[in-house]
Amino acid sequence: MLENDLTTDLIVLESHINSLFDSVRKGSAMLKAFQSFEMRLFNQNSLVEVIGYILDNAKAVFDLDQITLCLLDEHGDFSRLLGDALVKLTDQQGLMVVRDREALQAKFGYFVHSYLGPFEQEHFGYFFTTLEVPPASIAITPLYRGGKYLGTLNMGSRRADRFSCTQTNDLIACLSMVIGICFENHLNVDTIQRTSYIDTLTGVNNRRFLEQRIGEELSRCQRSDDPLTCLFLDIDGFKSINDKYGHQTGDRVLSTVAKAIKNQLRNSDILVRYGGDEFIALLSNISHSTGLEIAERMRRNVQSLEITFSENRIPVTLSIGLATYRSDLNQPLATAEAAARLVNTADAAMYQAKNKGRNRVEYAEIRFDRPLVLNG
Ligand code: GH3
Ligand code: MG
Repeated sequence: MLENDLTTDLIVLESHINSLFDSVRKGSAMLKAFQSFEMRLFNQNSLVEVIGYILDNAKAVFDLDQITLCLLDEHGDFSRLLGDALVKLTDQQGLMVVRDREALQAKFGYFVHSYLGPFEQEHFGYFFTTLEVPPASIAITPLYRGGKYLGTLNMGSRRADRFSCTQTNDLIACLSMVIGICFENHLNVDTIQRTSYIDTLTGVNNRRFLEQRIGEELSRCQRSDDPLTCLFLDIDGFKSINDKYGHQTGDRVLSTVAKAIKNQLRNSDILVRYGGDEFIALLSNISHSTGLEIAERMRRNVQSLEITFSENRIPVTLSIGLATYRSDLNQPLATAEAAARLVNTADAAMYQAKNKGRNRVEYAEIRFDRPLVLNG
């Protein structure tokens, strides 16, 4: 009798131990999956890749039926970094970008803490739109960047017991922290890159930015057969402004002129401070005749600026050189050579304007019958 009881107890104990081993094995496999997923997230090279990786792989790795991300993008940082990929990720893969914090709060609640539990269409429908059959249970976890709310990571399962409020949520909290760190890293790199392309005195972009972008602008114009107009602008007699009114006033003149030039440009145009008192503007899809009108407007605008020193008006004028690249007219050139010829020709036109008396606009044709002379 006693022997029988002991045998039964032993069988129960053995099955209990087996099920414990089983859940330890499952737990350990899940932990490994989380860790390897997180390592891969850190290895992605851009925000697009991080988001793409989450949306493409999280379902399989974490045994989910749906994964979506909702990003709060009040300053447009995410949208700028995602660029063209934003539409694709939004349309196909469950990325939601919300620009307005209040709208997010009013419509969908504001997830400061994680929610694990049953799906309710009324409250959580917005986060789970791509599933034909709604999930039975969900986990919604907030994402933070340096204490700032970034949005939510949203997981859905058709299994009602997949997520419940009694479940510990350490792994998901850890995953959302890692995602927040990855987002923060890429946003920070972007901020550093953008500030390294800004001229601190005038607030416009610098020469490095032009070097980075001119190739892209030219390639785009070459592909679409659109013209690309380059303006080379140089302040007349700037050295004597410095000499007469002092360097600080010279600085003030530089930044006022930069703003005046920028005011005449579209948001999509590029304006850089090329050096001392020289600026370059790149106007995509602008013909040379329209470019001349724009340059003339800039010249007149700068001439009429009211910049004063001890209540005396400082006369400031610009000499502007203009050149236009047209892929249908200009010989097909490698992008780097086209860029160099465009800038050099606008520079040469600017020197003509200086030679003809300053405070004027001159135009020059890009020539191919001369070897390319590289500037500074
Ligand atoms: P031109 O009409 O031929 O262009 O005459 P210019 O006096 O403008 O000629 P130049 O290009 O030689 O003078 C540019 C001056 O700009 C020389 C330099 O001292 C001054 N400069 C360069 N960078 C700065 C700056 O950041 N601040 C100030 N205040 N002056 C600068
Ligand atoms: Mg000058």
